[in-house]
Amino acid sequence: MMNNPPLERYNRQMLFFENGEVAQQRLMSKHVAIVGIGATGSVLANHLTRSGVGELTLIDRDIVEKSNLQRQMLFNENDAENKTPKAIAAKENLTDMNRDVKINAIVDDIRNQEIETHLGECNLILDGTDNMDTRFLINDISVKYNIPWIYGGVVRARGMTVTVIPGKTPCFRCLFPEAHTRQGETCDTVGVINTVVDIIASYQATEALKWLSEETKTIREDMLQIDVWENETELFPFQGSLNPECPCCQKKQFSFLEKGEGSIGSVSLCGRNTVQILPNTPLQSPITEIAERWRPFSNTEVTPFLIRTKYRDYDISLFANGRMLVQGTDNQQVALQVYNELTGIEQ
Ligand SMILES: [Zn+2]
Repeated sequence: MMNNPPLERYNRQMLFFENGEVAQQRLMSKHVAIVGIGATGSVLANHLTRSGVGELTLIDRDIVEKSNLQRQMLFNENDAENKTPKAIAAKENLTDMNRDVKINAIVDDIRNQEIETHLGECNLILDGTDNMDTRFLINDISVKYNIPWIYGGVVRARGMTVTVIPGKTPCFRCLFPEAHTRQGETCDTVGVINTVVDIIASYQATEALKWLSEETKTIREDMLQIDVWENETELFPFQGSLNPECPCCQKKQFSFLEKGEGSIGSVSLCGRNTVQILPNTPLQSPITEIAERWRPFSNTEVTPFLIRTKYRDYDISLFANGRMLVQGTDNQQVALQVYNELTGIEQ
């Protein structure tokens, strides 16, 4: 088994797999997308890169902030100072870990139609996001393209994970039929402890390894919930959870995908005092030209990925596709106004 030098680094893992090198080769032929490279996403990307997955697509719309460093393991002080997009910073770090993994970094919102197409070509989608709306969108893509996804959510000291396999398990909407209609707790209102992040993401990564190596005998068939502070673990078996009336997995109505089209798309980001504007109308000129118009404002900078400036009381980041982050407010109307003023495009 060990006469294949590129596989030597996976020796311990192949000893563990029931099918040894065959399982490793399966893993190395797979393409995984991680949506959200924050706290859980960093841990997921770390494990999958070290395990030797074939291709990894990292999708994140955000830039690294100092307040991320408490729990987002792939980033450091330099990334925060340079306000590097998370997907880019993560790719650099992960490439140093394992050069054999092909890593794609996408600095954009998952609502972009091209990303749906990209996700449709993956073998597995992993949830590293921080909000339910995006998870319902991932669930729609999962069922539409028949691709499994693994949910992981953390808040306070609690975490939860579910493995969704279309056609085999209940989907996320079967399990949380009403969750999209109410505002849940998020880490910007109640905080989060960093250890529960690793625990939940490690459970997700373990399920991912089972699926990708095709050693699926023990794949999880329940919802796991843990509270690391209160020392509580609960399992909720799937039996009876599949909803025969489920709009997503039974009726194939992908309302979260449809909602994305044509909507203005402004959203408040978890824990950030930041609003993202995802415009309908493309920018009229390249961002380097816009940067010239912004010169009179203080601290205008052009980086390879974005331009940023200080405008009124807000820190502004504008990406080449017209997406803008307005830091310093949670108010979407205020942020839209700022977008209009800075780009001259009414949204
Ligand atoms: Zn369902």
